[in-house]
Amino acid sequence: MARTSTPRVRKPARAQAFTRKLLAWWARAARDLPWRKTRDPYRVLVSEFMLQQTQVSRVAEYYPRFLERFPDLRTLARAPARAVREAWDGLGYYARARNLHSLAKSVAGDGVPTLPDDPAELIKLPGIGPYTAGAVASFAYEKPVPAVDTNVARVITRVFLGSSRQRLSGNRQRIIWSLAASLVPKNGKRAWKFNQAVMELGALICVARKPRCPECPVRPLCRTGKSRRTDAAGENRLSKSR
Ligand code: SF4
Repeated sequence: MARTSTPRVRKPARAQAFTRKLLAWWARAARDLPWRKTRDPYRVLVSEFMLQQTQVSRVAEYYPRFLERFPDLRTLARAPARAVREAWDGLGYYARARNLHSLAKSVAGDGVPTLPDDPAELIKLPGIGPYTAGAVASFAYEKPVPAVDTNVARVITRVFLGSSRQRLSGNRQRIIWSLAASLVPKNGKRAWKFNQAVMELGALICVARKPRCPECPVRPLCRTGKSRRTDAAGENRLSKSR
């Protein structure tokens, strides 16, 4: 018979320990990034569009300039397509700029120039997928919902499932989202920190090719990290010899 139960982290104590260690690390290691200082939905949205497939350092350069030129949804909605493209010039993946512009026009066109706070509504807007919907709901509105990007999927897979080598099939994605949903704290402010912290861990420590397990705050709880003791030491020796 098919199993219908939603995957969750089986041991609540383990989930709590993961969150505790992660948030303690975040408090001392988080990067100071401009989009983390705002809860303005439009500013969060712009950062999320820019961060899709683009390095943080590059976005940090474009983000303030774009916001200076288009400080809110209404201004962006009224701007000619050429001006939006010009402000995006150099960031690449111009479909993002087109989608952001159409999103602004569709939202501002309703006479209510604001963004919904529900991921189920956000996902109906141009250029917004499940990750961006969760990210805007969490980072702008402090909703206790998951936001699973590539970094988060990698961390959750390595910690709770034990490997990240398999391709993310639809079923595997569903499992990871369910695990993420079971881990996100119920308190919105804590959920904001949790989502930021998992992403940061994936960006700085649990990186794709050579995870830095010896430095990782959640290593004692990680299925992959525990078995990488020898590999990690070998990798460290290798990197020192370069
Ligand atoms: S212990 Fe290693 S594999 Fe596990 S989360 Fe940390 S960096 Fe990633």
